Amino acid sequence: MTSRISRLLVAFVATTGATLGVTLANPSPASAAMTICYNTSQAGSFVSVANQAASIWNNATSNLTLTANCGSNLRIYSITGGGSYAVRTSLGNGRVYIDTQQAQQYSPLRIMSHEIGHILGLPDNYNGNCALLMSGGSAGTGCTNPYPSSAEASRVTQLFAGTRVGPERAGDVGSQIFPDSWPATMLAPIG
Ligand SMILES: [Zn+2]
Repeated sequence: MTSRISRLLVAFVATTGATLGVTLANPSPASAAMTICYNTSQAGSFVSVANQAASIWNNATSNLTLTANCGSNLRIYSITGGGSYAVRTSLGNGRVYIDTQQAQQYSPLRIMSHEIGHILGLPDNYNGNCALLMSGGSAGTGCTNPYPSSAEASRVTQLFAGTRVGPERAGDVGSQIFPDSWPATMLAPIG
């Protein structure tokens, strides 16, 4: 009798697991638009740069609205030394750190847009192409382009729509740290 109940339980658990598997493999589509609240209370001198970068991403994507200080999906910090970096806790959530020293060599707006790009699901692509936002510091200090390419922008749109297939699918874009100390050894000593 006991073993029969056990067999029934095993069958029930197996059935439930299979049902969950089907559900996870077919996520329902995300809502048409998503608001990402960014917080600039710790952004120091980079508040206006953060607002400009938010506008760039809002214009480049069709289903995202980055809005200032309505919440804290994304916290933006000013730091000094060590390079800028992004800590993504999940798609659309995390922290961005902008290095004031790096921002004296590289375009602050390009750095800001790039780091926000990580929060929005994009990886680094250090190939030296200034037309790409995620090429970062590999494009050199003379590259001031703060705009994502159409491919970069559409990838973000697809991630938030849950329709991206292949690498960096929605659901695969999780917690990750992106160090952007472009290039780490080239900061000249001050003085
Ligand atoms: Zn990066």
